Amino acid sequence: MPYASVVLDIPTRALDGAFDYAVPAELAAEAVTGSTVLVTFAGRAAVGYVVATHEEPPAGVAPEKIRAVEQVLAPSAFDETAARVAAWMAREYACPPAEAIRPFLAPGQKVRVTRASADAPWELQTERAGAVDDRWARLTPAANDYEPARTASRQRAVIEALRQGPQRVAELSATIPGAAAAVTALAKRGVVDVTHRRRVRGTDDTTLSSAAAPRPERLTNGQQAALAAIDAARTAARGDVVLVDGVTGSGKTEVYLAAIERALADGRGALVLVPEISLTAQTVGRFRSRFGDEVAVLHSRLSTGERFDQWDLVRSGRARVVVGARSALFAPLREVGLIIIDEEHEGSYKQDKSPRYHAREVAAELARARGAALVLGSATPSLESLARCRAGVFRGARWTRVEMPERPGAAVLPRVTVVDMAEQFRGGGRSIFSAPLANALLDVARRREKAVLLLNRRGFANFLMCRECGCVPECPHCSTALTYHERGHMLACHSCGRSWPVRAFPDPSTSCPNCGSRYLAAFGVGTQRVEDELRMLLPEDVEVIRMDADTTRAKGAHQRLLEQFDAAECAVLVGTQMIAKGLDFPEVTLVGVVNADTMLKLPDFRAAERTYDLLEQVAGRAGRGERPGEVIVQTYWATHPAMRAVAAHDRAVFLDAELAERAEAHYPPFARLANVTVWGRAEKDVRSTCDELAAAVRGRVGDDAGWEVLGPAECVKARVKDQFRRHLMVKAPADADLGGVVGACAVSLGRRAGINMAVDIDAYDLM
Ligand code: ADP
Ligand code: ZN
Ligand code: ZN
Repeated sequence: MPYASVVLDIPTRALDGAFDYAVPAELAAEAVTGSTVLVTFAGRAAVGYVVATHEEPPAGVAPEKIRAVEQVLAPSAFDETAARVAAWMAREYACPPAEAIRPFLAPGQKVRVTRASADAPWELQTERAGAVDDRWARLTPAANDYEPARTASRQRAVIEALRQGPQRVAELSATIPGAAAAVTALAKRGVVDVTHRRRVRGTDDTTLSSAAAPRPERLTNGQQAALAAIDAARTAARGDVVLVDGVTGSGKTEVYLAAIERALADGRGALVLVPEISLTAQTVGRFRSRFGDEVAVLHSRLSTGERFDQWDLVRSGRARVVVGARSALFAPLREVGLIIIDEEHEGSYKQDKSPRYHAREVAAELARARGAALVLGSATPSLESLARCRAGVFRGARWTRVEMPERPGAAVLPRVTVVDMAEQFRGGGRSIFSAPLANALLDVARRREKAVLLLNRRGFANFLMCRECGCVPECPHCSTALTYHERGHMLACHSCGRSWPVRAFPDPSTSCPNCGSRYLAAFGVGTQRVEDELRMLLPEDVEVIRMDADTTRAKGAHQRLLEQFDAAECAVLVGTQMIAKGLDFPEVTLVGVVNADTMLKLPDFRAAERTYDLLEQVAGRAGRGERPGEVIVQTYWATHPAMRAVAAHDRAVFLDAELAERAEAHYPPFARLANVTVWGRAEKDVRSTCDELAAAVRGRVGDDAGWEVLGPAECVKARVKDQFRRHLMVKAPADADLGGVVGACAVSLGRRAGINMAVDIDAYDLM
């Protein structure tokens, strides 16, 4: 009789590992690896996942004690290789095994079971809402002569997307709100043709291929070098990694497309991950135009039914190219030849709920397990990836960096000016806008062009800053910026937990610890104030559009504001980080960054890297049209390497300084870092749990070289919804089994009523 190793989906950290069950003959065909089964555990019915099957009974257990699988609830969703990767995730990210398996399950599958009556079979609850839409839209030849009204921006967006190739209407709707109505309107005019069909070949239809995005005649030298490296990595079949380090517009996507073509020719498929925000109709269209309905799109904005349908296309082998956000990594593609992660530096590749995995790391593990190659692309690669390429080898895989420093054809880099706001202040400037930025804005108004103003919103007003020298008080023990707490007028360190009354820091007689100025104030302006000052500065006929959390709360508001900006003749778009996408408008000739440095002051070692990435992204996108762009960066910290690097278009200026600091302070990529957050209503219990955990970790590794426990301390967000939040951080050597150690310590504490704990390995969010 065969046996199945089953991971139970019971929410407890202590239950790590699989349990063996016998498979009755009548279930043998179904109770295979990857299936969801019903079993009995501790006298209760439980849902579990089969991670392996074997013929021999498990050693050390009397055969008559082994219970049988009672029912198969869902067919196989993953294979044994995927099961091994899930087991790796559970250890690496210190989460229960079932939580690591869930991302591999079919979209919509729930853990709960129900049954109609006491003797009816159990059924898994599933959510498959949303009818599957098999309508495909494509442009007709009439589209060449059709010019939509200037205000019909949805129609224009749809046409632009379809120029890349035919697409499913459901996908268009996921990326362009209101696309379905636009398609109907365009179909009435004969511009778009809608057909119901399951399969569409992109290549065997002349009207389709004539509308598709052109394939470049010749690849650039950089592209060829990247492709050769990817081919070599694929041939090695051991999870080798190629980092395509190319500026925006250097043709990275074109490299991905060519590499996928080659993989497909070898009978292997590809998983392509893009950040949620870049998963636009154009991106999807580009992949569809090359690979037709071999492409499955997994997008969180698709209905569950839609996602299930796409997932099923992959499982059945009909789709061999999967394009999606983070979770596309878990699609049931078996013959994986390539895994591609675009914009690999993006923080959104780290999942912020359990399993708290980083897509880059799971992709590397998956590529190794499947004998595939991993391709990482970015204009601003993460320090982790750069470090591994410098080392050449990481966890047995070869890491290679290929540079693509140029754009095909001629392109001009925008002029970047860094304005020192402390100098402006000393010169009497009290406005949000420095003289250079105010003048540049007035020029834009005069020339009837468009500008984008970026306001760095994160970390706002939580700091005291000297307006004369830009200094922010730091903890003398942790060199972390101190956050300001209005209540009690206190400065607190969120690494070590120390705090000071403002007047006593660093000595009671002065205000600014650096220059002695008394202009030490909570610093921060909101988008609203920027908008108000803009209206005062600019003539009335310049449209000012504000985009932030307040103005985009309504569904579709984001898109509507962008459309308004697009349709305007002369306008300024003011917004938080979320407008970074708005920078793609070709008529934008000026990009201003109102406050480049607020993020630098977050108690987060990646603050400088994020600032640099954001500024570089801004600088790389301005002036994409005919006219050269101008970028003005306002900062109180003009000497910061991130500012100097962006101004000089020289990444090394930033990297050298940042790496030296990370090495000195023992942070990634030179070490690993875990953040464990504990929260609950009873502050006393939160404190004692945190203290005990810190003691457990110290007891285990306290004296080992490279290990260090920081805290416990209050979280930056110290109280959320009446729950107290404390955290501790654990630093470990770069090759340490951090998840194994911290996970075991967390398990040793046992479950505690009213106390929640989140173990975040290789944490990105330290708040
Ligand atoms: P990235 O992904 O790096 O931003 P893309 O692949 O989107 O760059 O390429 C930017 C633009 O350059 C696209 O319009 C693309 O069609 C074009 N392009 C890419 N490679 C070439 C090439 N070898 N020759 C000419 N144009 C190219
Ligand atoms: Zn401190
Ligand atoms: Zn000062």
